[in-house]
Amino acid sequence: MSPVDPNPHQPADGAARHHDDDQASHDHDGHGDEGRGHDGHGHDGDGQDGHGHGGHGHESHGHGSELSEMALRVRALESLLLEKGYVEEAALDELVQTYETRIGPRNGAMIVARSWTDPAFRDWLLRDASAAIHAMGFTGRQGEHMVAVENTPQEHNMVVCTLCSCYPWPVLGLPPTWYKSPPYRSRAVIDPRGVLADFGVELPPATRIRVWDSTAEVRYLVIPMRPAGTDGWSAEELAALVSRDSMIGTAVVAAPAVAAAS
Ligand code: FE
Repeated sequence: MSPVDPNPHQPADGAARHHDDDQASHDHDGHGDEGRGHDGHGHDGDGQDGHGHGGHGHESHGHGSELSEMALRVRALESLLLEKGYVEEAALDELVQTYETRIGPRNGAMIVARSWTDPAFRDWLLRDASAAIHAMGFTGRQGEHMVAVENTPQEHNMVVCTLCSCYPWPVLGLPPTWYKSPPYRSRAVIDPRGVLADFGVELPPATRIRVWDSTAEVRYLVIPMRPAGTDGWSAEELAALVSRDSMIGTAVVAAPAVAAAS
């Protein structure tokens, strides 16, 4: 095996799935088999049960010491891999360093800004996000199969991984802690409007909310709406307005006047 398998999840049905905000239940059949296939990309939530994918609902896994449990397991695994010569410590450090410091939401913001300013790129992005993003030079693990979903006045998109923490690393960096938390993962599907309210986002009642469940196979990037008052702005200026959360769908991009006043 390679030092860190880039896509340890088992491909399943491959179909992009989404949940409408009035739909409370869904399944995880697309997520591969029980207890494996989700290793390898930093799950904090389900320390000891191998994720227990089989038929879990959206209950919180309230183990008291799951973080230290997981940290111990990661350390044990790393020691074993090092000892057996399967990985080099420097390579592991390089990977962690890269995602912690060199790859972050700025990549995604540049993609969003370009989609706002370059109609041909926008069309390409919506049609084949993996290729369009790759063409901008953003490649890497956990971002091999990207789908871009565009917010409109009629429809707001929001991303979750109900199972664990699947997230588009090459364009957004590492996921925030709340993204990996059981409450977000469960409530995003059951009560997306409530979750948005917790984030301070209130959408018009007529705006439909679609919740996209990230999987091993597909990672989503939300293209937020371009704010008013930015006519003639360059892509660089626009990118500076785009927050990480707006690309997960738990924030909107405020108009510059509003942003300056707040
Ligand atoms: Fe996941």
